[in-house]
Amino acid sequence: MALVWSSALHLSPSTPPQTLTGDKLLLPQTALESLLSAAATAASQAAANQQTPAYDPASWDAPPRRNDSHQQQQQLPHPLTFRVTSLVTGRAAYAGIREFSADEGQVVLSNFLRESLALPIGTSTSSSNGSSPKPQEGDQDEDDVVEGPNGTRLKVEAVAIPKGTFARLRPLDAGYEEDWKPILENHLQKNFTTLAVNNILAIPRLSHQPGKDFKFLIDQVKPEGAEAICIVDTDLEVDIEPLNEEQAKESLRQRELRRHAESSSGGQINLDGPKEGTISDGNIVRFNLRSWDRSKPISISVPEEPVDILVSTDTMQGYPKLEEWTWARFDGSNPIVIPPDDLSIKTAKEVRISLQVYEQTLIDSNSKKPMPHPTKFLLSITQKTDQDSDEDEEMADAAATADSETCSNCKRSIPKRSMMLHQNFCFRNNILCRHGCGQVFKRGTELDHWHCTECKAFGLNTPEHDTYNKHMDIAHTARRCASCDYSAGSLSELAAHKTTTCAHKLILCRFCHLVVPQEEDTNFTAAITGLSPHETSCGGRTTNCHICERIVQLKNMEVHLKNHDLQRKSQLLPKICRNVNCTRTRTNDNQQIGLCSVCFGPLYSSQYDPTNQALARRAELRYLTQLLKGCGKPWCLNEMCKTGRVNRKPSLPVIPSKEATVLVKSLVTKEGLLGGYTSHPLHFCVDETISKRKHLAEMLSLTEDSRGSGGWAIEWCTKAVESVALEATDELDTVNKAREWLEKFGVKRDE
Ligand SMILES: [Zn+2]
Ligand SMILES: [Zn+2]
Ligand SMILES: [Zn+2]
Ligand SMILES: [Zn+2]
Ligand SMILES: [Zn+2]
Ligand SMILES: [Zn+2]
Ligand SMILES: [Zn+2]
Ligand SMILES: [Zn+2]
Repeated sequence: MALVWSSALHLSPSTPPQTLTGDKLLLPQTALESLLSAAATAASQAAANQQTPAYDPASWDAPPRRNDSHQQQQQLPHPLTFRVTSLVTGRAAYAGIREFSADEGQVVLSNFLRESLALPIGTSTSSSNGSSPKPQEGDQDEDDVVEGPNGTRLKVEAVAIPKGTFARLRPLDAGYEEDWKPILENHLQKNFTTLAVNNILAIPRLSHQPGKDFKFLIDQVKPEGAEAICIVDTDLEVDIEPLNEEQAKESLRQRELRRHAESSSGGQINLDGPKEGTISDGNIVRFNLRSWDRSKPISISVPEEPVDILVSTDTMQGYPKLEEWTWARFDGSNPIVIPPDDLSIKTAKEVRISLQVYEQTLIDSNSKKPMPHPTKFLLSITQKTDQDSDEDEEMADAAATADSETCSNCKRSIPKRSMMLHQNFCFRNNILCRHGCGQVFKRGTELDHWHCTECKAFGLNTPEHDTYNKHMDIAHTARRCASCDYSAGSLSELAAHKTTTCAHKLILCRFCHLVVPQEEDTNFTAAITGLSPHETSCGGRTTNCHICERIVQLKNMEVHLKNHDLQRKSQLLPKICRNVNCTRTRTNDNQQIGLCSVCFGPLYSSQYDPTNQALARRAELRYLTQLLKGCGKPWCLNEMCKTGRVNRKPSLPVIPSKEATVLVKSLVTKEGLLGGYTSHPLHFCVDETISKRKHLAEMLSLTEDSRGSGGWAIEWCTKAVESVALEATDELDTVNKAREWLEKFGVKRDE
């Protein structure tokens, strides 16, 4: 039964608050009250039209009581969606609700909604008129009905909007790129409840570049024919299609500009040997390492000086970039060594490596140097324990000392026999650095060698690479985070910020499974809960538990399901009627005999029978009738029934009356009968339905569960068949549904 609610409200004269984004509106508190009562009316009408489902109230898996009046009143449709119509122009827009906090009689609309309704943006209706004075109170304007002193009158009505399955968006700006999709999806999810055809979405870029909002036209939605779709709790497929060929070309051209042709493609790398490649300035070559010995350090080296190494793991989204990395090397010296106990590497499944050549234009944007040739590199990843490397060094030392000496000028190891010759040359041409770095360089090039005044770094400038300025730029230049304005003293500080606390760091949300910014940790809960701020709010969304149908917050679902599992496993075997041919679960424990009420029926008598004499006699009579006359039912397979014995395959011989009398006597002793469930079984004929269920339950108990283990005891299978039999269409359907039921509620033999 659909919710029927509408209200005529004035557009609030105040500017919409910043938080009112997307297609959201604010309604007054009284709207909530009238919506709730409208929902209660709708629900009670629905309840009246619907019969209470038949279920076993004693059974633990009874469905939640939906006709609880309190719950009913609180149940507003989720999400609530509205159509807002301007009573002036007749234009309409679709909206979702942010909260019920508007002033009485007023509605606050987001700028997006104002634009859709052709209302002035971001300012009050009265002040936007500029020169015209504010209408006085009591001033009887002709248009008072629609354009009163309180602003435009709008009709707001609750409407059910179909859940969207598909939306086609067309970018209205050039330069659209594929990696836009997650940002777009995230923006829609956060800010919109509905999407209406022919509206224009303006999505801000993550980096907050002003005036650079990306505009998309909502070109088509599905289900087809819908004017608007609801995009909350749906699996919306978003398709982004360039507007026309011209624009597609422009997009492509822009992308191509950023991609230099002469770079290696990177890819997967192993520990088995180094990889060769080339890389051009301002470009990045990416590698990933998937398997390594987790007890040893990983050493990543590229001997080529101009090549920077940036390393991160799959705990971060994407590959490392200039400002986002966990380990990096910019000075072309030592390899990066990641110890095995580093927290970041312990949980990682993949090590990601980006190689880049620092773009000289980043340092001096006016430099008009021609693009240098692509740089060759040799990337090698090795794993050596400390001992290994010690041994190597010792061996190298040993080899060196055997027949060579160290030059006192350049400190290089020189063969003894040529030392004189070398030093002759060395003292004339080579200079050892005066700052004590141990470097030797040609006389005349000493000005290219530099020592940083702020740290211990030193280096050598070459015609291609201004290493001093690169060092200053990387190590001693303050930078701002483009996403959140955080200011960092150096690149490594910025990288640490961007990979840890930055609100715009992308994460893969475990609840909505989208790549989204983690958001700001305002309450400092991330460290305690292990959830990013986005996940904390995203996990606050609710869904219906597939077992009990109760509404559960996503973040509590794991615990909730664990509870179900504990509850499930702690169940006792269901009790089945003591009649071996019967499959009814006993709901009547009053009578000691252990039969279901149907099987017990014929044995019941209202006579006073304190010694159960009469009960035993009736049981005996029933047994004898079965054995001597038979029940005559074509489906009967009861081994204690003449008909059943004939029907069985292979059939059993008829029991002569004398033997039958003896046999039955032992089955109907008072003790045996009253021994109940734990005593010997009883054998009474049953109707066709029960007979079929028995067969299905036996089949189920013989098969294993879907994971090939244990399977379920006959008692559980019997209960499963009984639980699903009424809603199943045929035998195959019964088996399938019973199996589903068992997976949800049953306890396996090996659990
Ligand atoms: Zn020397
Ligand atoms: Zn030096
Ligand atoms: Zn320095
Ligand atoms: Zn930031
Ligand atoms: Zn999420
Ligand atoms: Zn549940
Ligand atoms: Zn029974
Ligand atoms: Zn029978």
